[in-house]
Amino acid sequence: IKKFFIQFKGFSKKKIEGIDSICRMPYLNKMDQFASELPIHKYKDQILQLICENPIVMITGEPGSGKTTQIPQYLLESSDLPRILKSSKLKIAITQPRRVAAIAMARRVSYERKCGLGKEVGYSIRFEDCTSSKTQIKYMTDGVLLREALQDNQLSRYSVVILDEAHERSLDTDILLGLLKQVVQLRKDFRLVVTSATLDIELFQNYLGNCPLIQIEGRQYEVEVLHSAVKSDLRVEFAVNAAIRIHLHEGLGDVLVFLTGSEECEKACRVCFDTLQKLVAKGKPVPSMMILPLYGAMPSEEQSKVFKPCPEDTRKVIFSTNIAETSLTINGIGFVIDCGYIKQKAYNPRTGLDALMVTPISKQQAKQRAGRAGRTQEGKCFRLYSESFFEEQMAESAVAEIKRVNLSSTILTLKALDIRDVINFGFIEPPDHEALLMAHKQLFLIGALDEDGSITELGRSLASLPLEPTYSRCLIASLIFKSYSEMLSLVAMLSTENIWQNVPKMDLENTENAKQAQLQFIDKSGDHVTYLKVFDSWRDNEYSEAWCYENFINARALRQARDIRGQLKTMIKNFRISGLPEEKLYNELMEKKALSSDSSIRLRLALCFGFYMNAARAVSYGQEGSYLSVSDGTMLHVDKQSSISILGKYPPWIIYTHLSGSTLSHGSLKVLSKIRSEWIEDLTPKLSQANLERLVGLQKQKRPREPSINEEKEAEDPAIKVNQARER
Ligand code: ADP
Ligand code: MG
Repeated sequence: IKKFFIQFKGFSKKKIEGIDSICRMPYLNKMDQFASELPIHKYKDQILQLICENPIVMITGEPGSGKTTQIPQYLLESSDLPRILKSSKLKIAITQPRRVAAIAMARRVSYERKCGLGKEVGYSIRFEDCTSSKTQIKYMTDGVLLREALQDNQLSRYSVVILDEAHERSLDTDILLGLLKQVVQLRKDFRLVVTSATLDIELFQNYLGNCPLIQIEGRQYEVEVLHSAVKSDLRVEFAVNAAIRIHLHEGLGDVLVFLTGSEECEKACRVCFDTLQKLVAKGKPVPSMMILPLYGAMPSEEQSKVFKPCPEDTRKVIFSTNIAETSLTINGIGFVIDCGYIKQKAYNPRTGLDALMVTPISKQQAKQRAGRAGRTQEGKCFRLYSESFFEEQMAESAVAEIKRVNLSSTILTLKALDIRDVINFGFIEPPDHEALLMAHKQLFLIGALDEDGSITELGRSLASLPLEPTYSRCLIASLIFKSYSEMLSLVAMLSTENIWQNVPKMDLENTENAKQAQLQFIDKSGDHVTYLKVFDSWRDNEYSEAWCYENFINARALRQARDIRGQLKTMIKNFRISGLPEEKLYNELMEKKALSSDSSIRLRLALCFGFYMNAARAVSYGQEGSYLSVSDGTMLHVDKQSSISILGKYPPWIIYTHLSGSTLSHGSLKVLSKIRSEWIEDLTPKLSQANLERLVGLQKQKRPREPSINEEKEAEDPAIKVNQARER
């Protein structure tokens, strides 16, 4: 079973002068002093005054200056604000683009305020709510706040909303910016605070109507930047070597290493530990090291270990994903190793799906990363790429999420908020037209929008669930096919990370064992039923960790799935929507007695109603494992890890929920199942019915200029209008 951190016990090093003042965090008894030493402290009065006097205030400052942890506390301690906002007990929401940050910050602030987590200070993230009626400072993901807006579009339960990390330009924060601008106009008893790192300040200020701005000046020490190009597929090994070199040859300061994903971070920890042991075996005097990973999917108690100081003669080395770039600040970092890449969601416009892709970071991000070494002392940043890579391959700034991901869920949320004209929603930066069309189309195909682009009753139900609309659609279909319980488990399993345990490729014996273990669960119908079997077997084994370990299953993923399942179960209580197309199919199949009690068929039938646009037909001649997508004829190939590949029997029709691969024409199908073409034949005609212009309401779009007299006449004659619109 996985251990998250490794303490490497080496030779004890003599205590070095000055270490306390530089590296070690002052502790609880010194908390007041700690808070008053943060750069933001000098601005406390100014911040409070501006927030009292203005509906919107923007605050910027380098990461670590105290914005996230201190501003909500200042607000709570203010004596004027409750009077002005006419609230005896202020409630403050503070959003984070990342779940990890929401939890870590809530933990930290509850610790600073000496109150239990979930009492005065709490957090709320998707599938987990840790708040109570007493909670006044609520850290939450931007997605959760957006969802709350669906219930109460003026967010009347909050007096202040702080949109934190706005520079990250996460999709949900972007949307919230637009919504909260409207709330500010409607509610005199409300304040919006937007905080960000010192990036794109002008863009935000303009968007927010030139609101007052406070720029927190922090002290930044010199950071020496060194470049050395390495092959990107060896970045883990090189990063580890760089960390060990620093450990052996450089002075004080902990090491923060930026890698792209959880697997890389864990691998780096193992490799680092092994390498140190080998050095010791060769008789080298290696000082102690605390090796820690840091990434989103770790349990939060494990994450909090990175903040803890380690013994004085030990150096801390943290292998982290992008989380540590601006969201989390770890004190005492003297060295940064930057691999130059990031793993992020990117949208494939051809398939309408998002895939995780490893891409180069931007110049701005590279500078942010380097800056992490210079917060408390002069530092060094080792970049695992050349100067010319920095100059030529890296964009100036990162592409905002709204420009790169599938927008279905967002569009549905906006529609559910009764914003009809989504195209003219005041986005801080409008999404690409193509992506908007695609999202509308997807929503139309699953029946969430009608052909005019209005939200349907089904659409409202889908919007109320915290899942991608396609998954929610499957859940609703499963009510009809009486496979609800199975679909709940499946959707939960599909919402977690990889359920199979990663075995290093070099470890031949365990690779073989893992394969054998996987074979016990494989169902000939494909991956979806296979996933279900894994979940059910785990449940039958009392959710045992040891069982996961023996069967090479990722216990963490399964635990997550169980939690998600529990949450979803309580959400879909009484959805009764009549006239859904699956009723017809269900009745037909029942009449023909074609619907066995076999839950595998029922599950895959329900899956079709969320994903029939992802159906694909086998290529007829000889190319085993190649399929053509029904929606646009793209050629797709089954991934080697898929159940169907492992069994080597390729059915004529399949449906997939996960696709990877960066090129448009060669998608690799990761998670797929066999279906029958009859199941989708009533649905597929809809694929060619979508009139995109009508869906997004382009035909009705108002012109900015005054219409000419001629046009006014035409406008009265509906026939002319329709024809014109067609031509356009
Ligand atoms: P900002 O939001 O401006 O980036 P924060 O409010 O997150 O700054 O952090 C302020 C300070 O609190 C930083 O020095 C950071 O290192 C420290 N800090 C935050 N969380 C923790 C924690 N869990 N343990 C120890 N120190 C922390
Ligand atoms: Mg912050």
